[in-house]
Amino acid sequence: MKAVTFQGIKNVAVKEVPDARIQKPDDMIVRITATAICGSDLHLLHGMIPNMQEDYVIGHEPMGIVEEVGPEVTKLKKGDRVVLPFNVACGECIYCRSQLESQCDNSNENGDMGGFFGYSGTTGGYAGGQAEYLRVPFANFTHFRIPDSCEVPDEKLIMMADVMSTAFWSVDNAGVKDGDTVVVLGCGPVGLLIQKFCWLKGAKRVIAADYVDYRLQHAKRTNRVEIVNIEQEQDIGNYLKEMTGGGADVVIDAVGMSGKMNDLEFLATGMKLQGGTLSAIIIASQAVRKGGTIQVTGVYGGRYNGFPLGDIMQRNVNIRSGQAPVIHYMPHMYELITSGKVDPSDIVTHVLPLSEAKHGYQIFDTKMDNCIKVVLKP
Ligand code: NAD
Ligand code: ZN
Repeated sequence: MKAVTFQGIKNVAVKEVPDARIQKPDDMIVRITATAICGSDLHLLHGMIPNMQEDYVIGHEPMGIVEEVGPEVTKLKKGDRVVLPFNVACGECIYCRSQLESQCDNSNENGDMGGFFGYSGTTGGYAGGQAEYLRVPFANFTHFRIPDSCEVPDEKLIMMADVMSTAFWSVDNAGVKDGDTVVVLGCGPVGLLIQKFCWLKGAKRVIAADYVDYRLQHAKRTNRVEIVNIEQEQDIGNYLKEMTGGGADVVIDAVGMSGKMNDLEFLATGMKLQGGTLSAIIIASQAVRKGGTIQVTGVYGGRYNGFPLGDIMQRNVNIRSGQAPVIHYMPHMYELITSGKVDPSDIVTHVLPLSEAKHGYQIFDTKMDNCIKVVLKP
């Protein structure tokens, strides 16, 4: 089968790889009909995530049609249409039962463990979904089944796999409530969807920050937010603090490790990005009010363990963070999409055949061709 494979830093290739096959009795194989590229994939591309091997199949935002089920799969059958969450989770351990599927701790006798699709040996080593077929472990739990009557196109439903559910969780986890002022750092797919959910939760003011102008304009046009170009303000953290009258109630970091910076240089130089732009987490800690909350949705790796806590502790700031546990949010996301309350597909700028994945990665990474979200079709 054909799949998108990691080929070293800044390099992916569509290659012929061994077919996905049932390995455990509760596995299924899904024929992928659509699969999206995520900002998290850029961290792999930039070499920020350890335990990556050449030819490893990447991708964690897939959906498709069930092709084959193992003998212990009772909840699905061949022909069912499914969205696969980025979390691979057992549904039975203490974390899955307390709705923290992204921390699944399974170590059952069949030998699989919780993790993520296509996200390195660090998170289970599972092959990814940017491929013609995908092996889904714990198939009874790791899926959202789309009702047969549903005629909503893949371009909308695929957002449930990660970015839409992650955005909803971010706003929920941050505790955004009626009357809040929220600063959202990053106008990529995740930040743009977070902005929608801030309004839905009753925020009074939503301010979006980025340095890529077409993304800021997209945020203003589709989400009616105030926008700030972080590179056009000298002291961006304090600018946002003043703009919000002493700091925002909530700042959501939808950036993480930005491809703009040299990570090691960043730590060595007191957390300044190349070109002097501050990293999102530092902007967040300046722009939040005393007693306010920073929600860290952007992905950070082990290199950030030296993060300085001083200011945050002194100003009673709350930090919330994590890998989104998306599985239990998917039914609600489905309802929001099918009722027309939220259209997550307004971020999709490119639908390409799987064979053009390399180009898709390039325009998404370098912000070319007004790219916001790329969906690949095998
Ligand atoms: P993206 O790369 O398209 O978006 C990031 C945006 O941030 C870009 O528009 C970029 O221009 C902007 N940016 C860079 N540096 C900035 C700074 N200092 N201040 C403000 N904006 C800045 O990616 P995405 O798909 O939107 O994902 C965003 C982040 O969320 C990534 O780190 C991704 O790994 C993470 N993510 C986390 C989860 C989770 O479960 N926690 C799930 C999905 C994605
Ligand atoms: Zn993702």
